[in-house]
Formats: sequence, C-alpha cells, structure tokens
Amino acid sequence: MSKIACKCGHIIVDQTDDLPYKGYYIKDTHIEELYKGFDHIDQLIDAIKADKREEWIIQNFGNAAYALELSDSSLIHDLWLRNLKVSTIYTCENCERLLVQQGEENTYKTYIEEPED
Ligand SMILES: [Zn+2]
Repeated sequence: MSKIACKCGHIIVDQTDDLPYKGYYIKDTHIEELYKGFDHIDQLIDAIKADKREEWIIQNFGNAAYALELSDSSLIHDLWLRNLKVSTIYTCENCERLLVQQGEENTYKTYIEEPED
C-alpha cells in the first residue's frame, strides 16, 4: 500500500485491492520454493487424516503457539504464503511504462515500449 512516482510525473496509487494496473511475477528461481509449499500442504492434509495434526504443526511451526489455534484453511494459507516470493509490477496509466519491483525493497526499474522501426 503505497504511492509511487512514475518518471512521467504520474503518481501510481496502491491503496486498495483489485487494481487493474498492478500485477505480480514469480522468478523462475522461486518456483521450486512455491512447489515445496504445496508439498507441505499435502503433508498437512495427510497428518490431519492420520489424526496427527498437532504433532505435524509442532514439527513445522516449532513453538509457535498461534499455529495450534489456526483453522485448517488458515494453516494452508500460512504454508502457501511462507513459500510465496513475488515481486510487484505496475503499469503507469498515463504513459504505460512498466515498473518492476527490485528485490524485496520498494524500489522499481522502469521499462517503456520501444518505437517500431
Ligand atoms: Zn508514467
């Protein structure tokens, strides 16, 4: 949730959900980590079926007491987000520049369409 100044002077406002000019990308180097999150979700479901939910939570969340209080769907949400590393992309609605987040910081590189020859 922020405001970002585009090089054209337009202020890109990010203070709500469902922004048509905002997106995300996942680097290929982070895809494996995302799949590991799905593996954890599978393991949790197996543990629930085997009536070993609490044991599994202690193994995977350590002494995080809050985890024992979470619903199954909240646990799955946490497991998925734990492994999700995305970067944010904005398209300036004024000049159509693409702003691509660099690392985990609130800094962006900008790209603009090259004219056709
Ligand atoms: Zn712009």
